[in-house]
Amino acid sequence: MAIERTLSIIKPDAVAKNVVGKIVDRFETAGLKVVAAKLVQLSRAEAEGFYAVHAARPFFKDLVDFMVSGPVFVQVLEGEGAVLKNRDLMGATDPKKADKGTIRADFAESIDANAVHGSDSAENAAIEIAYFFPASQVYSR
Ligand code: UDP
Repeated sequence: MAIERTLSIIKPDAVAKNVVGKIVDRFETAGLKVVAAKLVQLSRAEAEGFYAVHAARPFFKDLVDFMVSGPVFVQVLEGEGAVLKNRDLMGATDPKKADKGTIRADFAESIDANAVHGSDSAENAAIEIAYFFPASQVYSR
C-alpha cells in the first residue's frame, strides 16, 4: 500500500477533556507518524470554510458552533494507507455506532461532539492539509 498523508483534527470536546496525548498515541501505535501539528482556535469563517461541503445540511450551524467552541489540535498523519487507517482508528461518525476500541467509542459523547475529524479520501486529504499547513510546515520523515 502507498505511503499517504491525511488530515486529523482532535475536536474541541477531546481537547477540553485533556485526551490529546491518548488520541495521538492511537495513531502512533498504529504506525502513523505525526508530520505536522498545531493547536488552533478556529474562527467562524475558518470552520465554515473547512466544512463548506456540509453548508446545506441541517446540522451545519451547530457543527460550526461546536468547532469554534474551543481550540482544536490539527495534525498531518503519514504512513501506509494513512487515510483509511485513520478512518478505521476513528470509528463511525456516531460514537454509539462506533466499534469497540475506536477513538470515537472510547472518547466521544455524541454525533456532534465526536472527538475527531479525519479526511475521507486522499483527494480531500490534500485539500484539507493545504487548508491548514503550507508545504514547508509538513516534515515528512
Ligand atoms: N455531524 C453532525 N450531525 C450529523 C452528521 C454529522 O453533527 O447528523 C457532524 C459530525 O461532527 C461529523 C461532521 O458533521 O463528524 C462531518 O460529518 P461527516 O458525515 O463528514 O462525518 P465524519 O467524516 O466526520 O465521520
